[in-house]
Amino acid sequence: MTLLALAGGFWGCGGRGSADDEQRWVELRETMVRTQIAARGVRDPNVLAAMRTVPRHLFVPEDVRPQAYADHPLPIGDGQTISQPYIVGLMSELLAVKPGDSVLEIGTGSGYQAAVLAAMGCQVYTIEIREALARSAADRLAALGYTSVQVRAGDGYAGWPEAAPFAGIIVTAAPERIPQPLVDQLAPGGRLVIPVGSFYQQLKVLTKEAGGLSQRDVIPVRFVPMTGEIEKQP
Ligand code: SAH
Repeated sequence: MTLLALAGGFWGCGGRGSADDEQRWVELRETMVRTQIAARGVRDPNVLAAMRTVPRHLFVPEDVRPQAYADHPLPIGDGQTISQPYIVGLMSELLAVKPGDSVLEIGTGSGYQAAVLAAMGCQVYTIEIREALARSAADRLAALGYTSVQVRAGDGYAGWPEAAPFAGIIVTAAPERIPQPLVDQLAPGGRLVIPVGSFYQQLKVLTKEAGGLSQRDVIPVRFVPMTGEIEKQP
């Protein structure tokens, strides 16, 4: 009797248990991509493949981990949030980048969006204004082996001039106006994907074309506000 109980305990907590857990996360990810992202029209195979691999549950605090693959944003501490999976997929597709491209992200947060872009084969530069979040995202990305991501703590308003120009720039906090330095750091043909507004925000895509800048509105969104220098601009 005792032996059986011991054996039961061993099987429950041993390597088999964690392999089963891993399989469960893989299935949750697959379902997320199919029902929340592909079903809503995201087609870029590189985006869908990347989102099937990045372990979103390791980018959220342990107490919300069971909801990591659910169809909504989640708190990541410091009053900030990790975006809803669909928004990550949509914004990644709107960037229209390919493997090898350099991408700048403003608003690292948990590092999840940066990891998705890295899994798409991009060189990722990401800036986070909250020092503690920047540090934990950098540690997490390194621990998970995302070596093509560089994290900087600071205000993303001025972009990352030493690494410019970028094929794509993605902003995951909402300013009321578009920061000009980010437009300046786009490569020819490059795209800026950015939520703009205060309470009501529009997700916009700006494309740097030979004749100037084209702009279109995609969908209404809700992001945390972009803070720092942009708030002081008239
Ligand atoms: N992309 C993130 C979620 C972003 S939440 C993820 O995948 O988890 C928005 C983040 O933008 C917050 O962490 C906030 O601190 C940061 N932020 C706000 N204003 C900023 C600025 N001026 N420069 C850099 N980061 C900023």
